[in-house]
Amino acid sequence: MDDLLDAIVVGAGPAGVTAARELAKAGLAVVVLERGQFPGAKNVWGGILYREPTEALLPGFEAEAPLERPIIEQRYVVLTEDAMLGATYRSQRFAAPPYNAYAVLRSPFDRWHATTAEAAGAEVYPEFAVTDLIWEDGAVAGITTGEPDGELRARCVVLADGANSLLAQKVGLHKEWAPIEQALVAKELIALPAEKIEDRFALPAGQGTALEIFGESTWGLLGYGFVYTNNESLSIGTGALLEDLIRTGYNVNDMLDRFKRHPAIAPLIAGGETVEYSAHLIPEGGYNRMPQVYADGVLVVGDAAGFVNPLNREGVNLAMLSAKLAAQTIVEAKARDDFSAATLSRYRELLEESIVIQDLYKIRNVTDFAHARPHLLRDYPALASEIARSYLTVDGLPKREKQSKIAGMLRGLPKKRLLGDAVGALRSLG
Ligand SMILES: Cc1cc2nc3c(=O)[nH]c(=O)nc-3n(C[C@H](O)[C@H](O)[C@H](O)COP(=O)(O)OP(=O)(O)OC[C@H]3O[C@@H](n4cnc5c(N)ncnc54)[C@H](O)[C@@H]3O)c2cc1C
Repeated sequence: MDDLLDAIVVGAGPAGVTAARELAKAGLAVVVLERGQFPGAKNVWGGILYREPTEALLPGFEAEAPLERPIIEQRYVVLTEDAMLGATYRSQRFAAPPYNAYAVLRSPFDRWHATTAEAAGAEVYPEFAVTDLIWEDGAVAGITTGEPDGELRARCVVLADGANSLLAQKVGLHKEWAPIEQALVAKELIALPAEKIEDRFALPAGQGTALEIFGESTWGLLGYGFVYTNNESLSIGTGALLEDLIRTGYNVNDMLDRFKRHPAIAPLIAGGETVEYSAHLIPEGGYNRMPQVYADGVLVVGDAAGFVNPLNREGVNLAMLSAKLAAQTIVEAKARDDFSAATLSRYRELLEESIVIQDLYKIRNVTDFAHARPHLLRDYPALASEIARSYLTVDGLPKREKQSKIAGMLRGLPKKRLLGDAVGALRSLG
């Protein structure tokens, strides 16, 4: 036995903590360095945590973890300037254990989550910001915090430092994400008494809903707003692809303010007190822009590798799963005493066999498809709203005339564009 650590993990988000716990469980010596005051201190998400993938990694977590309301209902809503229309799915199957998902607040969750790695034998050190990597013979051999005595060495380093990982850029594994490869989201936590939340969202006591809101919530840009119900607060946010924000000059703070003032949203948050504000990037480059995720002595996991499925609101579960696969790779590398890129390439194979790459591959063209069609979240919501208003207005117009008026609106759609949208949607989702 020597004193060299087996692994240093940079970042105590869901990915970093999972990697550390899995490595410690396998008997490896692992240290996690986290720049925040404590794990989760500044971490941001919506956020909905799916139960099944979390249970697979952390059996029995529901009894221990700080969770908010189980989500019994999903609403998809489209806003125009003055209207709202949408679809709701509420199921009794979601309303009893085993639940499908929970609303979760990152700060308490991440803090608790880090204790699971410590319990397995990992050491977690907050208030250590890693500024660079140490190289030896062309391989990553450790990290530095840039302070005197700030160097630490290990057989390998796991980069779990989140979106737009500066360290992965330093290794040369990827460039700074381009504006089309990331979304910027502003989020507030609004305190409200539990009974008000239950009244306003028509919820049974202790249960919750998730609203994803398109159209006017992002000024028609590619992205969405959300409202999630916590025990005694609402998480509300909105954001869009950075490229579109730069192009239009829109600012996500203004976007969120306007979203909160929308006549369909304002009553939901009325009287609430904003207790937290944050803004954060989400990597959305997906499969087509996936960076190299390993090199000699180093692996990249979670958001740092761009493992987010924005279509299905999956980030944390992919972060945790990728970290587990990275840990498995490191355990195998330790057994061979070989941390070369050739050995660590096993990580990419494991990712390909998992839903991480399989799902990202499946939706690889969705962002490009939707981004090339800015009218999707602008013109179709407006048309759907007009049709609904016309149909629902009782104004003495005979129904036959009303029907042909609606048919006329549909016929007014540019046929070529409609066909292109339909075929493109089927292809990009197929
Ligand atoms: C607004 C928003 C809403 C979201 N909603 C959802 C949702 O509902 N469901 C879902 O599954 N996902 C959601 N996501 C995505 C999800 O949050 C991420 O996919 C997930 O957090 C990735 O985990 P991670 O551990 O890779 O990165 P992070 O959670 O970002 O953790 C990275 C950690 O590394 C630390 N760190 C960074 N740099 C350094 C450094 N140099 N030295 C030391 N420490 C460092 C950070 O402080 C942080 O603790 C959302 C994201 C956002 C922004």
